[in-house]
Order: sequence, then structure tokens, then C-alpha cells
Amino acid sequence: MSDVRTYLVLLGVPGAGKGTQAKLLQETLGLPQVSTGDIFRYNLKNATELGVLAKSYMDKGLLVPDEVTIRMVEDRLAQPDCAAGAIMDGFPRTLQQAAAFDALTAPHGGVRLAPLIGLSDEEAVLRISGRRSCRTCGAIYHAVANPPRVEGVCDKDGGELYQRDDDREEVVRNRLFVYYKQTAPLIGYYFAKGLLVELDGAQPISDVFAGLQAALAAHAALPTHS
Ligand code: ADP
Ligand code: ADP
Repeated sequence: MSDVRTYLVLLGVPGAGKGTQAKLLQETLGLPQVSTGDIFRYNLKNATELGVLAKSYMDKGLLVPDEVTIRMVEDRLAQPDCAAGAIMDGFPRTLQQAAAFDALTAPHGGVRLAPLIGLSDEEAVLRISGRRSCRTCGAIYHAVANPPRVEGVCDKDGGELYQRDDDREEVVRNRLFVYYKQTAPLIGYYFAKGLLVELDGAQPISDVFAGLQAALAAHAALPTHS
């Protein structure tokens, strides 16, 4: 195969730590994090047609329709920074998205590994209620577990930290429900392909990351990117 790329799919309940780990992996692997949630939020901030559409679903904790989401990911993966592959964070989230992603990545060797970051619902709700995100660079903090040096201010770029609209408790419950109904079947999907590795997401961030790196070394035969 001439154009083999590295596609990783991070799985886990909302709040499990996918975004946090994707950002760490991005630095070590030299591959971009592709977060569909971040792309929707970017569109929302810029009041694009896609952003307005996505908001009506995100506010309720529902998934944006597959057709729209898949097209958006196709466009994103065609960008030059994704030429060697990508770390998928929050996509695929339905079996239909997973099948579309397989078709899209098949010419490049398909999905390399699907790490599942395991976390209980109670722990996930606690994490989400303390999550704070940087308005400008998207860095992720936690009020207690991973606080910034100065409260309300991003360590990386000094941006303002905020709580996402959909991180309110009543929306979070619905997102968990949607996860079990629509996204959890992907665990079986990737297990059947021999691509699933399970990690204990209740450990400290650095331990989860070490586990992830060990899993990649053991199962994924990653090319070295600079
Ligand atoms: P979290 O990191 O807490 O799981 P995300 O930022 O990934 O949350 O997603 C926030 C919201 O964006 C979702 O509740 C959903 O409305 C929308 N969204 C993100 N990714 C997808 C996707 N792959 N398919 C459909 N909707 C999505
Ligand atoms: P996801 O992308 O899966 O929704 P995030 O990476 O946004 O999850 O993490 C959710 C919240 O939990 C954030 O506030 C983050 O700082 C915090 N967090 C992530 N990983 C850990 C961990 N291993 N231990 C404690 N807190 C964590």
C-alpha cells in the first residue's frame, strides 16, 4: 500500500479524558487531534450555518446527524495537516459513522487502533462538572483535578476559561444516555476487528497517557513522525 496513514480512534464516555489524551498524543506523535465537538464549537462561535444547525442538537445533548458530521470529517481529513493521519476524538460516534470512516480510511490502511478510556458514569459526571475549556486555544482543565496556575486563565495562551453550555448536569445525563445507545456499540465493532485496547481512565492523566503509549507501542507499529 503506497499511502499508509495512522488513524487512531479514541473511545470513552463524555468526560473520560479523550480530549486530554488526544492533545498529549498530538504532541508526541506529530499527528493532529480531530475533535468533531471542537469543530462544531468553532462553527458555533463563528455563527456559520453548520454551527447554528449543530447548536440545536448539542444544547439537548443529542448527536448532530450522521450525514452532516461525516461530510465535515471528510473535509477536515482532506486538509494538508492530516496527510499522515489523525487522532480521532469524538468521531466516529455511531455505527454509521464508523462504517463511513472505514471506507474513507481503507485506502490508507484503515484504523490502526481504537483505545477505550474506561470510566464510571459517576466519575464522568464529576469530571464534566469541573471541566473548564480555553475559549481561544481549546486547552482542557479541571477545577480540582487539573487546575490552571491562575484561576480562570489558560496556562498556554492566557485565554479565558469557560464552562461549556452542554456541560450542565441535565444535558450531561442525556449525553451519557445517548452514548450508551448510539456510541457504545462501537466497542464491539472495534473489538471484532481486533483493534480495541482498554485503559483505566480513573488513573491520573499521566498514568493514562503512559498506558496509551505502551498500548500503541505493543499493538500499533506506529511510524515515527517528527
Ligand atoms: P465530549 O468530549 O464531552 O464527549 P464533544 O465535544 O465530543 O463532547 O461533543 C459535544 C457535542 O457535539 C455532542 O454532544 C454532539 O452534540 C456533538 N458531536 C460531537 N461529535 C459528534 C459526532 N461524531 N456525531 C454527532 N454529534 C457529535
Ligand atoms: P472527553 O474529551 O472524553 O469528554 P476531557 O479530556 O475533556 O474528556 O476531560 C474531562 C474533564 O476531566 C476535564 O476537566 C479534564 O481536565 C479532566 N480529566 C481528564 N483526564 C483526567 C484524569 N485522568 N484524571 C482526572 N481528571 C481528568
